Amino acid sequence: MRLILFGPPGAGKGTQANKITENYVAAHISTGDMLRAAVKNGTELGTLAKSFMDKGELVPDDVIIGIIQDRIKEEDARKGFMLDGFPRTIAQAEALNDMLSDANESIDVVVSIEVNDKEIVGRILERAKIEGREDDTEDVVKNRLSVYRDQTEPLKSYYQGLNILAEVDGMGTIDEVFERIKLVLNKVEL
Ligand code: AMP
Repeated sequence: MRLILFGPPGAGKGTQANKITENYVAAHISTGDMLRAAVKNGTELGTLAKSFMDKGELVPDDVIIGIIQDRIKEEDARKGFMLDGFPRTIAQAEALNDMLSDANESIDVVVSIEVNDKEIVGRILERAKIEGREDDTEDVVKNRLSVYRDQTEPLKSYYQGLNILAEVDGMGTIDEVFERIKLVLNKVEL
C-alpha cells in the first residue's frame, strides 16, 4: 500500500504514523524526521534546511523532491510506503505523481486527519514542553499553521479530484482516531 498521511502540524500525524507502520506493511517516510537528522549530523542539507525550519517556512521544493525521489527507491519502500509530511505543496504532489507514474505506480489513499485550529495550537505547545522541538515556539507554530493553510491545504482538493482523499476526524483519543484510520485502510487493502 502507498499512502499519504496528511494534516496540519499538531494533528497527531507522527503518533498515528507509528501505529500505521506497526499494523500495515509500509516504510515510514517522514521528511521532517529526515531533515532533523540532517540538521543533527551537520550536513550541507541540514544547514540549508535549518534556516527554513527555524522560521516555520517550507524547505524549497527541489530540495525536498530530490530527497523523496531517492528515498522511495530504497528496498524497504518497494512494497509500499507511508509519506508523512510530504507532499506539502502542489508542485511536490505533481512531482510525486510523475515519479510514481514513471514506475507504473500510484498513491492508493490520502488520509487527512482533521483537527480544529484551537486544538492544534494547544497540542503543539504541549509537545514543545515534552520534546523541546526548536520549531515549536508560539510565533513559529503560528507561521507553520499559516504556511499550512496557504500552501498545503489546497492539496486536499487536488487529491479529492483524484478521488483518493479520505478525511478522518482527528479529535478524540489516539486509539479512537486510529480506529477511524483503520476503517479507511482496511477498505483500501481489500
Ligand atoms: P514536520 O516534522 O513534518 O512538521 O516538518 C518540520 C519542518 O521541516 C517543516 O516546518 C518544514 O520547514 C520542513 N519540511 C518537512 N517536510 C517538508 C516538505 N515536504 N516540504 C518543505 N518543507 C518540509
